[in-house]
Amino acid sequence: MDQQPSHHLTPCHEAKFPCYVGVDLGGTNTKLGIVDDMGRTLYFELISTRVEQGPDAVMDRIAERVSSAIQQIGLQSPELAALGIGAPGILDFREGTMRVPVNFPGWENFPIRQQIRERVNMPVVLANDASAAAYGEFWVGNGTQFDSLVLLTLGTGIGAGIIIGDLIIEGNSGHGAECGHMIIDTSPSARRCGCGMYGHLEAYCGARATLTITRERLDEGAETSLRTRLEAGETLSPRLISEEAEAGDALCNELIDNMAKRLAQGIVSLLHTIDPACVLLGGAMTFGMTSTATGRRFLSIIRSEAKRQTFRTLANQLIIDYAQLGSDAGYIGSAGIARISHFARSKVRNEMQVASLRRNTTSE
Ligand SMILES: [Zn+2]
Repeated sequence: MDQQPSHHLTPCHEAKFPCYVGVDLGGTNTKLGIVDDMGRTLYFELISTRVEQGPDAVMDRIAERVSSAIQQIGLQSPELAALGIGAPGILDFREGTMRVPVNFPGWENFPIRQQIRERVNMPVVLANDASAAAYGEFWVGNGTQFDSLVLLTLGTGIGAGIIIGDLIIEGNSGHGAECGHMIIDTSPSARRCGCGMYGHLEAYCGARATLTITRERLDEGAETSLRTRLEAGETLSPRLISEEAEAGDALCNELIDNMAKRLAQGIVSLLHTIDPACVLLGGAMTFGMTSTATGRRFLSIIRSEAKRQTFRTLANQLIIDYAQLGSDAGYIGSAGIARISHFARSKVRNEMQVASLRRNTTSE
């Protein structure tokens, strides 16, 4: 886990005000950042979430760290406009509650927005963590030149965020952008998804699915250099599969190629539903991205398979690429979502300003 953001911290005297607090609430760690109006990080901290202590204790700790951060970098309260928090699971955006918080036992229906607001004394915006990451990429990551994007985060499962203009697709009941649960296989042999249903994209892509499929192939007796490493006492992991693929193992390459083809099927459905300007891929299951032959091959198969299965116009302008912000996308995007709502609240939102909200690198 990164202890520091991947980019350097901007000193407070260089910041463009107002600033926003971005919180990326995770089951193990929570990332907290203070981000200026240009999306630059002034302060970053990784906090142990300690879910088991219960929501009140966690909210207390986050609020305490926020106020300590403000003091530490010397911000005055008018310079801080709002706080955005990205939370996992299904959220109720009307009520500001965590409805089905996966990996947060005992947090069901916790009114997180109100509870944070009472502690930090500034407006609070609640976002889905995957949507926040997508907004981070849209605002200052690999999506800045586009008006719409889909971010697929390939981790244990598949997280997704859809941004169109400054609109974040949350859905009527908080289930918007659940792209990991698109149906891509309706055959009787369709695999079971982590959600319990069958044939979903996440049942074929992501770490959990890849490990399940790899174990099946090992049980069937497939020939692979993975066996040598497992016999040496190593544990089967996405990293092991990635390393053996990079070393030329045929099975590992086949598994990764199959994941790329399945992912492309899902992406084609997204293209035909949204026609986004770009699709970005992030998360740990990206095989070193463009820094490894495996990562480059993975992306290249996704691109060619998606092109092959879509309309010519879409294929010709198709942009599928890796995300840029890594694990910083969540807190930066949460701050960015707080920023949109701040502009909306301050009633300075006219068309010109909406157009320049994200392109603030050129506006004043
Ligand atoms: Zn599912």
